[in-house]
Amino acid sequence: MKMSIAMVLGLGVAAAVWSVAVTAENQDEEVVQQVSGVSILYMYEAVQYSGQAVAEGLEEVAANAVRPSVHLTDAQRFMLNCPVADTFVFPVGAPDAGGYYDAQPFGKNFHLGEDWNGVGGGDSDLGDPIYAVANGVVFFTEDIQLGWGNVVRILHNIGSKEAPEYIDSLYAHLIDVYVRPGAMVKKGDPIGTMGNCDGLYAAHLHFEMRHKAFMPIGGAYSVKTDGYLNPTLFLKAHSHTHGTAAQ
Ligand SMILES: [Zn+2]
Repeated sequence: MKMSIAMVLGLGVAAAVWSVAVTAENQDEEVVQQVSGVSILYMYEAVQYSGQAVAEGLEEVAANAVRPSVHLTDAQRFMLNCPVADTFVFPVGAPDAGGYYDAQPFGKNFHLGEDWNGVGGGDSDLGDPIYAVANGVVFFTEDIQLGWGNVVRILHNIGSKEAPEYIDSLYAHLIDVYVRPGAMVKKGDPIGTMGNCDGLYAAHLHFEMRHKAFMPIGGAYSVKTDGYLNPTLFLKAHSHTHGTAAQ
Protein backbone atom coordinates (compact mmCIF):
# COMPACT_ATOMS: atom_id res chain seq x y z
CA MET A 1 0.00 0.00 0.00
CA LYS A 2 1.47 3.34 -1.02
CA MET A 3 1.23 5.90 1.70
CA SER A 4 2.55 9.38 2.33
CA ILE A 5 2.92 11.11 5.65
CA ALA A 6 2.94 14.83 6.14
CA MET A 7 3.93 16.26 9.46
CA VAL A 8 3.35 19.79 10.50
CA LEU A 9 5.16 20.92 13.59
CA GLY A 10 3.92 24.22 14.90
CA LEU A 11 5.67 25.67 17.91
CA GLY A 12 3.98 28.72 19.34
CA VAL A 13 5.30 30.98 22.07
CA ALA A 14 2.55 30.24 24.54
CA ALA A 15 2.00 26.59 23.74
CA ALA A 16 3.46 24.03 21.43
CA VAL A 17 0.94 22.51 19.10
CA TRP A 18 1.76 19.32 17.34
CA SER A 19 -0.10 18.11 14.32
CA VAL A 20 0.32 14.93 12.33
CA ALA A 21 -1.52 14.55 9.08
CA VAL A 22 -1.52 11.12 7.52
CA THR A 23 -2.85 10.69 4.00
CA ALA A 24 -3.53 7.37 2.36
CA GLU A 25 -3.49 8.40 -1.29
CA ASN A 26 -5.55 5.52 -2.63
CA GLN A 27 -8.33 6.22 -0.15
CA ASP A 28 -8.06 10.01 -0.18
CA GLU A 29 -8.46 9.81 3.55
CA GLU A 30 -6.88 12.16 6.02
CA VAL A 31 -6.39 11.64 9.73
CA VAL A 32 -5.30 14.55 11.83
CA GLN A 33 -4.34 14.31 15.45
CA GLN A 34 -3.50 17.32 17.56
CA VAL A 35 -1.95 17.53 20.95
CA SER A 36 -1.61 20.91 22.65
CA GLY A 37 0.82 22.18 25.20
CA VAL A 38 3.46 19.51 24.67
CA SER A 39 7.17 19.96 25.17
CA ILE A 40 9.73 19.78 22.37
CA LEU A 41 10.95 16.51 23.84
CA TYR A 42 7.47 15.09 23.58
CA MET A 43 7.22 16.26 19.98
CA TYR A 44 10.42 14.44 19.07
CA GLU A 45 9.21 11.27 20.75
CA ALA A 46 5.88 11.51 19.01
CA VAL A 47 7.56 11.89 15.62
CA GLN A 48 9.62 8.79 16.29
CA TYR A 49 6.55 6.86 17.30
CA SER A 50 4.72 8.05 14.19
CA GLY A 51 7.58 7.11 11.85
CA GLN A 52 7.67 3.63 13.27
CA ALA A 53 3.94 3.34 13.11
CA VAL A 54 3.73 4.14 9.40
CA ALA A 55 4.91 0.61 8.71
CA GLU A 56 2.25 -0.76 10.99
CA GLY A 57 -0.68 1.11 9.55
CA LEU A 58 -2.91 4.05 10.13
CA GLU A 59 -4.51 2.74 13.29
CA GLU A 60 -1.18 2.52 14.99
CA VAL A 61 -0.33 6.10 13.97
CA ALA A 62 -3.54 7.34 15.50
CA ALA A 63 -2.92 5.37 18.69
CA ASN A 64 0.62 6.67 19.07
CA ALA A 65 -0.41 10.23 18.42
CA VAL A 66 -2.30 10.33 21.67
CA ARG A 67 -0.03 8.00 23.67
CA PRO A 68 0.93 9.53 27.00
CA SER A 69 4.63 10.25 27.25
CA VAL A 70 7.14 11.80 29.59
CA HIS A 71 6.03 15.37 30.04
CA LEU A 72 8.88 17.73 30.67
CA THR A 73 8.20 21.39 30.13
CA ASP A 74 10.89 23.47 28.46
CA ALA A 75 11.49 25.19 31.80
CA GLN A 76 12.04 21.85 33.51
CA ARG A 77 14.54 20.75 30.87
CA PHE A 78 16.48 23.99 31.24
CA MET A 79 16.54 23.54 35.00
CA LEU A 80 17.74 19.94 34.72
CA ASN A 81 20.61 21.01 32.46
CA CYS A 82 21.54 24.10 34.42
CA PRO A 83 25.06 24.04 35.87
CA VAL A 84 25.91 25.52 39.26
CA ALA A 85 27.01 29.16 39.13
CA ASP A 86 29.41 29.69 42.00
CA THR A 87 30.74 33.12 41.04
CA PHE A 88 29.70 36.01 38.80
CA VAL A 89 31.30 38.65 36.60
CA PHE A 90 29.88 41.82 35.07
CA PRO A 91 28.32 41.50 31.59
CA VAL A 92 30.62 44.22 30.15
CA GLY A 93 34.32 44.73 30.77
CA ALA A 94 34.40 41.41 32.60
CA PRO A 95 35.16 40.71 35.30
CA ASP A 96 34.55 44.10 36.94
CA ALA A 97 33.03 46.38 34.24
CA GLY A 98 36.33 48.18 33.70
CA GLY A 99 35.91 50.81 30.95
CA TYR A 100 32.15 51.01 31.40
CA TYR A 101 29.68 52.88 33.58
CA ASP A 102 26.04 52.39 34.54
CA ALA A 103 24.18 55.35 33.02
CA GLN A 104 20.83 54.47 34.61
CA PRO A 105 21.13 52.41 37.80
CA PHE A 106 18.53 49.97 39.07
CA GLY A 107 15.64 51.86 40.68
CA LYS A 108 16.39 55.22 39.05
CA ASN A 109 13.28 56.35 37.14
CA PHE A 110 11.77 53.00 38.23
CA HIS A 111 14.34 51.25 36.03
CA LEU A 112 14.25 47.47 36.52
CA GLY A 113 17.74 47.02 35.13
CA GLU A 114 21.00 48.83 34.47
CA ASP A 115 22.20 50.63 31.31
CA TRP A 116 25.84 49.83 30.69
CA ASN A 117 27.81 52.23 28.47
CA GLY A 118 31.44 52.51 27.43
CA VAL A 119 33.29 55.46 28.96
CA GLY A 120 34.00 56.69 25.41
CA GLY A 121 30.36 57.79 25.10
CA GLY A 122 27.96 57.75 22.15
CA ASP A 123 28.24 54.71 19.95
CA SER A 124 31.92 54.15 20.72
CA ASP A 125 30.90 50.93 22.48
CA LEU A 126 28.80 49.63 19.56
CA GLY A 127 29.74 46.00 18.90
CA ASP A 128 31.58 45.52 22.20
CA PRO A 129 31.41 41.97 23.61
CA ILE A 130 28.69 41.04 26.08
CA TYR A 131 29.48 38.24 28.51
CA ALA A 132 27.48 35.62 30.39
CA VAL A 133 27.65 36.73 34.01
CA ALA A 134 27.93 33.15 35.28
CA ASN A 135 27.66 29.49 34.30
CA GLY A 136 24.17 28.73 33.09
CA VAL A 137 21.91 27.63 30.30
CA VAL A 138 20.46 29.98 27.68
CA PHE A 139 16.67 29.71 27.65
CA PHE A 140 15.59 32.62 25.45
CA THR A 141 17.03 34.42 22.40
CA GLU A 142 14.71 36.52 20.31
CA ASP A 143 14.35 39.88 18.60
CA ILE A 144 11.22 41.10 20.34
CA GLN A 145 11.55 44.69 19.02
CA LEU A 146 9.30 47.23 20.85
CA GLY A 147 12.27 48.93 22.46
CA TRP A 148 13.94 45.66 23.43
CA GLY A 149 15.59 44.45 20.21
CA ASN A 150 17.59 41.26 20.52
CA VAL A 151 17.25 39.76 23.98
CA VAL A 152 19.19 36.89 25.55
CA ARG A 153 18.14 35.30 28.84
CA ILE A 154 20.24 32.86 30.84
CA LEU A 155 19.22 30.62 33.74
CA HIS A 156 21.67 30.20 36.63
CA ASN A 157 21.66 27.82 39.60
CA ILE A 158 23.05 29.66 42.61
CA GLY A 159 22.32 26.75 44.94
CA SER A 160 23.84 23.30 44.61
CA LYS A 161 23.14 20.34 42.38
CA GLU A 162 21.19 18.75 45.25
CA ALA A 163 19.42 21.91 46.37
CA PRO A 164 19.14 24.17 43.31
CA GLU A 165 18.10 27.80 43.49
CA TYR A 166 17.41 29.46 40.17
CA ILE A 167 17.79 33.05 39.04
CA ASP A 168 18.11 34.49 35.56
CA SER A 169 19.99 37.25 33.76
CA LEU A 170 18.72 39.29 30.79
CA TYR A 171 20.73 41.13 28.12
CA ALA A 172 18.92 43.49 25.71
CA HIS A 173 19.48 45.65 22.60
CA LEU A 174 22.20 43.31 21.25
CA ILE A 175 23.42 43.45 17.62
CA ASP A 176 24.91 39.99 17.30
CA VAL A 177 23.67 37.01 19.29
CA TYR A 178 26.05 34.05 19.51
CA VAL A 179 23.88 31.63 21.48
CA ARG A 180 20.61 29.78 21.12
CA PRO A 181 18.17 28.33 23.67
CA GLY A 182 19.64 25.23 25.27
CA ALA A 183 23.24 26.42 24.96
CA MET A 184 25.36 25.84 28.05
CA VAL A 185 27.52 28.85 28.84
CA LYS A 186 30.37 29.43 31.24
CA LYS A 187 31.00 32.56 33.24
CA GLY A 188 32.57 35.17 30.94
CA ASP A 189 31.62 33.47 27.68
CA PRO A 190 30.79 36.01 24.92
CA ILE A 191 27.07 35.70 24.14
CA GLY A 192 26.67 38.63 21.73
CA THR A 193 27.62 42.23 21.06
CA MET A 194 26.42 45.58 22.33
CA GLY A 195 23.79 47.22 20.16
CA ASN A 196 21.54 50.23 19.87
CA CYS A 197 18.22 48.51 19.29
CA ASP A 198 18.17 49.28 15.56
CA GLY A 199 19.23 52.88 16.11
CA LEU A 200 16.61 53.65 18.72
CA TYR A 201 19.20 54.52 21.39
CA ALA A 202 22.87 55.31 21.72
CA ALA A 203 24.51 51.90 22.05
CA HIS A 204 24.28 50.40 25.51
CA LEU A 205 23.43 47.16 27.28
CA HIS A 206 20.16 47.02 29.18
CA PHE A 207 20.85 44.36 31.81
CA GLU A 208 18.46 42.80 34.33
CA MET A 209 18.63 40.05 36.92
CA ARG A 210 15.62 38.27 38.38
CA HIS A 211 15.58 36.06 41.45
CA LYS A 212 12.29 34.60 40.23
CA ALA A 213 13.39 32.71 37.15
CA PHE A 214 11.30 32.60 33.96
CA MET A 215 9.21 35.69 34.68
CA PRO A 216 7.63 37.35 31.63
CA ILE A 217 9.84 39.78 29.74
CA GLY A 218 8.31 42.70 31.65
CA GLY A 219 8.39 46.41 30.88
CA ALA A 220 11.93 47.45 31.93
CA TYR A 221 10.40 50.17 34.13
CA SER A 222 7.99 49.70 37.01
CA VAL A 223 7.25 50.75 40.56
CA LYS A 224 6.89 47.03 41.29
CA THR A 225 10.30 45.43 41.73
CA ASP A 226 9.08 42.08 43.03
CA GLY A 227 11.19 39.31 41.50
CA TYR A 228 13.99 41.65 40.40
CA LEU A 229 17.51 41.92 41.76
CA ASN A 230 19.74 44.98 41.94
CA PRO A 231 22.33 43.65 39.47
CA THR A 232 25.41 45.51 40.68
CA LEU A 233 24.75 44.69 44.33
CA PHE A 234 24.24 41.04 43.46
CA LEU A 235 27.27 40.77 41.14
CA LYS A 236 29.59 42.41 43.66
CA ALA A 237 28.34 40.13 46.42
CA HIS A 238 28.93 37.05 44.24
CA SER A 239 32.15 38.00 42.52
CA HIS A 240 34.19 35.60 44.62
CA THR A 241 33.67 32.01 45.68
CA HIS A 242 31.29 31.34 48.55
CA GLY A 243 32.87 31.83 51.91
CA THR A 244 35.20 34.55 50.73
CA ALA A 245 32.56 36.84 49.28
CA ALA A 246 33.57 40.46 49.60
CA GLN A 247 30.49 42.48 50.41
ZN1 LIG B 1 17.58 50.18 30.41
